[in-house]
Amino acid sequence: MEYDHSDEIKMLRTSIREFVDKEIRPIARAIDEQERVPFATIKKAGELGLLGIPFPEQYGGLDMGITGYCVLMEELNRVCASHTTIIGAHAQLAAMSIFLGGNEAQKSTYLRALNEGRMIGAWALTEPGAGSDAAHIQTTAVQEGTDWIIDGQKMWITNGSFADIIIVHAVTDKALGARAASPLLLWRRMHPALKWAKLKRRWD
Ligand SMILES: Cc1cc2nc3c(=O)[nH]c(=O)nc-3n(C[C@H](O)[C@H](O)[C@H](O)COP(=O)(O)OP(=O)(O)OC[C@H]3O[C@@H](n4cnc5c(N)ncnc54)[C@H](O)[C@@H]3O)c2cc1C
Repeated sequence: MEYDHSDEIKMLRTSIREFVDKEIRPIARAIDEQERVPFATIKKAGELGLLGIPFPEQYGGLDMGITGYCVLMEELNRVCASHTTIIGAHAQLAAMSIFLGGNEAQKSTYLRALNEGRMIGAWALTEPGAGSDAAHIQTTAVQEGTDWIIDGQKMWITNGSFADIIIVHAVTDKALGARAASPLLLWRRMHPALKWAKLKRRWD
């Protein structure tokens, strides 16, 4: 059995390592000490395609699978846990939720913007009373006309204070019991005219 990575993945690792050593290593200590969000390097990673590694090219991704994404995480973590956490939440939590549950319009608009680094994403599940126990989140989402009214508290949300898009887990239908905890909602902060939009649940 062949355990070695493909030449494509090896080349990806080399490119990521060059980017990380040149752009991130020099600022890694300073951003932690100054508690700064490294917007410039996140944007640059998006311009190089590194934020969209696992996603199809039609949505601005590199189509290099989860292996490619894992290589990105390994290379970032060699140098800077802050970049790893920010990019991990952005790509694997927020963007992946839209890829798996979004409709075509949401994918072409928001997934593409996330992959290209034009927007930053966050994913909000954890609450003061529920972390691992996702089935017992208390945040509710009620539809009123074309709006969704979200009511609840979230905590420890990586990128939560500055993200353009937040995937929020809320209960939309208590009758669903434990399954009620997983509806995903999308909010675009840059355009207030765009309301909350419910993503398709994976089992629908
Ligand atoms: C750096 C960082 C970034 C984070 N980013 C995000 C984010 O972007 N979005 C977000 O939503 N959350 C985020 N979180 C929160 C994280 O997802 C939660 O901390 C996690 O879900 C655990 O929840 P909790 O802390 O409430 O622990 P608890 O759920 O209270 O768990 C405490 C302990 O009990 C164990 N346990 C829990 N349930 C069971 C069970 N049924 N059986 C046996 N053992 C159990 C757990 O394994 C754990 O050891 C982040 C946390 C950190 C530290």
